[in-house]
Amino acid sequence: ETMTQSSATELTSEEVVRITRETNYGTWRFQKGWNPLHIVDSEGCYIIDANGKRYLDFSAQLMCMNLGHKNQAVIDSIAKQAQDLAYALPGYTTTARAELSKLLLEVLPKGLNKFFFTTSGTDANEAAFKIARMYTGKTKIIARYRSYHGSTAGSIAATGDPRRWSMEPRGKGPGIIFGPEVHCYKCPIKHTYPECGIACADYLEHMIRNESDVAAVLVEPIVGTNGVIVPPPEYMPKLRRICDETGVLLIADEVMSGWGRSGEWFAMNLWDVTPDILCTAKGITSAYVPLGLCATSEKIGDFFQDHYFAHGHTYEAHPMTLLPAVATIQEMRRLGLVERTRKLGPFVEEKLNTLKSKHPSIGDVRGKGLFWAVDLVKNQKTKEPFNTYADKVSSKALVVDQIAAKTLADGVIMQAWVSHFVIAPPLIITEEEIER
Ligand code: PLP
Repeated sequence: ETMTQSSATELTSEEVVRITRETNYGTWRFQKGWNPLHIVDSEGCYIIDANGKRYLDFSAQLMCMNLGHKNQAVIDSIAKQAQDLAYALPGYTTTARAELSKLLLEVLPKGLNKFFFTTSGTDANEAAFKIARMYTGKTKIIARYRSYHGSTAGSIAATGDPRRWSMEPRGKGPGIIFGPEVHCYKCPIKHTYPECGIACADYLEHMIRNESDVAAVLVEPIVGTNGVIVPPPEYMPKLRRICDETGVLLIADEVMSGWGRSGEWFAMNLWDVTPDILCTAKGITSAYVPLGLCATSEKIGDFFQDHYFAHGHTYEAHPMTLLPAVATIQEMRRLGLVERTRKLGPFVEEKLNTLKSKHPSIGDVRGKGLFWAVDLVKNQKTKEPFNTYADKVSSKALVVDQIAAKTLADGVIMQAWVSHFVIAPPLIITEEEIER
């Protein structure tokens, strides 16, 4: 009976799972024991499986369903667009394209006013690399360790975590070099904040000045999957200054940190810093349809009035994605979700700190708004994690995965990565649901 709600076919739930297992592969699907949940329905912060079991989603799926499920305004926008016009080539325009562009001018960090629409965060970053290289005439991009920027050739090469390792040595470059991440809980260059004077940013400057041909520095303003790392307040203004002084572009990858998650529309607003290029996706449509955005300064956009930007996709500025993005921004405003998220931040922080004070295996909790990490450690003093990147790539059973499997059985979805959880529920979550 539950099956017929979501599917017109005669397949039983067992057949759905079996056929998927036998024919699909990808990140979640490499293990022989993969036994996917068969999801048939959803509501707000919950997804519902074929047995009618409800799961409270504490990670907004992939930190993207900011509005939660079944937002009627977004659903209506999809239906309307499908009825009016499902597709038109990107050289044309639609009313939704202009409406979305107007709204973007209002919510993006000021000064970003030229837009290139893609279908994912990955290809928004690919566009950014090409733009930065064409605009500066230079090649190298300085990325940081403990980062994720996507899965295609360029974006995986700029990824500072084990998802790149499987591509090595081909994954190296061309022209990507890595600098230290900002991570005060476990400083990669063994300094202590604030006495350090933000030495990790100085290190990036050292790299720029000792390399030739640097086009850009690429950062996740708040590191996402690799541990929700919020930099100290001086970091981003300092990096902006360094980029200005050395003539290098600053690219902010706000694929995960954007769209209200930090309690600001974009994390860069936390420090009032405008990057030269900002890439985003996920929350732009609350993941109802796949849309990415690469936004640049006027100066960079104008450059391409006179220079051929040989870059585009069949699905660039796809009409089916743009009206839902308009509806998403309008819904976020109507529900006051950015302000609400800002206010909920201290509530989540207090709950997590209470948990930490009671539990010796929690080493650190950190975050902002509705974007938090819980780090698990064997020992709070030594900060030794239960598992490492090397464990992850060798497919060892990870402690966090075992805990996530337990919470899933209890009806709560937790996003686990190596030795921490990423907490990023839909922004509509209630205090009662957070308590749970
Ligand atoms: N950049 C960051 C910071 C991300 O978190 C992600 C995805 O999780 C990406 C890029 C890639 O985006 P997508 O999965 O939409 O291609």
